[in-house]
Amino acid sequence: MNLLEECRGAGRIGISGHIRPDGDCIGSCMGLYLYLKKELPEAEIRVFLEKPADIYGCISRIEDVDSAYGEQKNFDVFFALDSVADRLGKAQPYFENAKKRINIDHHISNANGCGNVNYVDPQASSTSELVYRLIGNDGLDQEIAKALYMGIAHDTGCFQYSCTTPETLRAAADLISYGFDFSRLIEETFFEKTYLQMQILGRALLESIRFMDDRCVVSVLNRKTLDFYGAGPQDLEGIVSQLRSIKGVECAIFLYETGAQEYKVSLRSSEKVNVAAIASYFGGGGHVRAAGCTMTGTAHDVINNLSLHIERQLDGGEA
Ligand code: AMP
Ligand code: MN
Ligand code: MN
Repeated sequence: MNLLEECRGAGRIGISGHIRPDGDCIGSCMGLYLYLKKELPEAEIRVFLEKPADIYGCISRIEDVDSAYGEQKNFDVFFALDSVADRLGKAQPYFENAKKRINIDHHISNANGCGNVNYVDPQASSTSELVYRLIGNDGLDQEIAKALYMGIAHDTGCFQYSCTTPETLRAAADLISYGFDFSRLIEETFFEKTYLQMQILGRALLESIRFMDDRCVVSVLNRKTLDFYGAGPQDLEGIVSQLRSIKGVECAIFLYETGAQEYKVSLRSSEKVNVAAIASYFGGGGHVRAAGCTMTGTAHDVINNLSLHIERQLDGGEA
């Protein structure tokens, strides 16, 4: 796919990514936004996302992100990044009513794409790596490079997860050659946590329970606890990967209450369990080693339902 070719003649171009945007979602949307702004000065270009966390304040033009979704007029081209159509939240109608719908993604649960033009590669580390590929060397500058590097670093757990490939590292090497302060970028957006975030992480670890011969671990944060700490979804990122890091754990489950008998579920696996398959079964999706969904019922019901699938995989050996 050639980005500029796809946008030729378009007067109004929109970009969005999934709800509760993470580093890759924000990095890929902003990288593409900065690139199109630079290359297509005549076009009206808009980027829509749920309000990015304050840590992303270091990304150029993040203040341009529209989180009010007041737009009424249709777009000529609309990009859905790091997402399927039904995770775009309030931007979903913009995507669906656009003349041309372009989907760029790396989720295996979205292998066919949801646009009329699709660039989906489930082998890619991140959507930011895909945007890097599409922009190519000639189109980069320091600010675009910074946004894309951040996205790649976040989705690879700083180049640690198995989705990291030689191509990922070559992309990262090229991106840091643009001279931004990558150590600081990663410290500020990935490692640094507020006191509240650390407290709630501690609470989640303290209350975690291992089961299935200690091959699984689960932790649940209910509404009351979240309210006690004043914690929102953005304060809970990273908890599930800490649970997954426990020695001997094959599969980690983290739940937090989003409504009456409704839980956001995050799943991570070390080597054996295909969590994308489990999350997809329950109406969500993601990657083989990291996936999510929303489930209803008591926390007990949710854990029991998930456990059945995990156990079947662990004992049946399917991956
Ligand atoms: P999370 O556990 O929310 O950090 O998500 C892990 C991975 O699964 C990320 O790549 C998410 O984009 C993806 N994911 C989470 N929830 C869903 C969902 N409901 N549908 C599709 N993908 C999801
Ligand atoms: Mn994402
Ligand atoms: Mn991603």
